[in-house]
Amino acid sequence: MADAPHPLRATGRKSVRPSATPRDLMADAVLARAWSAQVITLFPQAFPGVLGQSLTGRALAEGLWQLHLTDLRAHGDGPHRKVDDTPAGGGPGLVLRPDIIAAAIGAAMSLAPPGAPLIYLSPRGRPFDQAMAQELAAGPGVTLICGRFEGVDQRVLDHFRVQEVSLGDFVLSGGEIAAQALIDACVRLIPRVLGNHGSTEEESFSEGLLEHPQYTKPAVWQGRAIPEVLLSGHHAHVAAWRRDMAERLTKERRPDLWRAYCATRGMDPGEDTEL
Ligand code: SAH
Repeated sequence: MADAPHPLRATGRKSVRPSATPRDLMADAVLARAWSAQVITLFPQAFPGVLGQSLTGRALAEGLWQLHLTDLRAHGDGPHRKVDDTPAGGGPGLVLRPDIIAAAIGAAMSLAPPGAPLIYLSPRGRPFDQAMAQELAAGPGVTLICGRFEGVDQRVLDHFRVQEVSLGDFVLSGGEIAAQALIDACVRLIPRVLGNHGSTEEESFSEGLLEHPQYTKPAVWQGRAIPEVLLSGHHAHVAAWRRDMAERLTKERRPDLWRAYCATRGMDPGEDTEL
């Protein structure tokens, strides 16, 4: 229903804090410079979505990061605010128009902190990973374009030198879920967002390894006991067991990560990792 008239006649911008009412959101001035995500989307009502929950939601309410939405429809053409048209060369579906996307990019960039990269979520993009999340989280923020239908006209990507980032080798119906995943991965790395900041240092990928298995109470469940070493209180033994498990899991499940990990440490990837 890309051509349905749209009730929003405002600027198409809003800032989101989960605690605020919609009227407050429109009036919200740009908050002091915290890490800032600008999102261009046909579905601003899909935000903050899951980002409004739990740690990321609390951090948003506390101003540790900001979310600015640019409603693509508000930049649409004519009384129906048309944003798309049929693909040149024929074929099914619709393509988002470059002039409309460009206007939305202009509006979103005016809210973005200087130096925030402009990214189009796209299955053709560079695969997103933890290293990219760390790099983005250390910067001022991101401006994200969420595609729909067959995607966006190539010329606007070339004109603005937009970076393309993919969530993985599958096709989503729109960029909104991908944008929320990317923002979530970045926001949890912002200092003070996770109460216990140490927990981002040991988890999967932080050292190029998958994380060791986790256990909690009860000590025995369905006849399965927690590995004894974890109850020993011996920190060095616990740490050694965890590293051993992380290495074994990575070697078994992700030979690609394992080879990269060994290469950075001058280790032989074929070597047995058992202690
Ligand atoms: N025709 C396109 C897919 C369009 S899917 C193609 O074959 O490449 C519609 C939108 O969903 C895209 O514009 C993009 O913004 C988003 N999307 C789909 N899959 C994605 C993925 N793996 N990673 C990030 N964004 C994705």
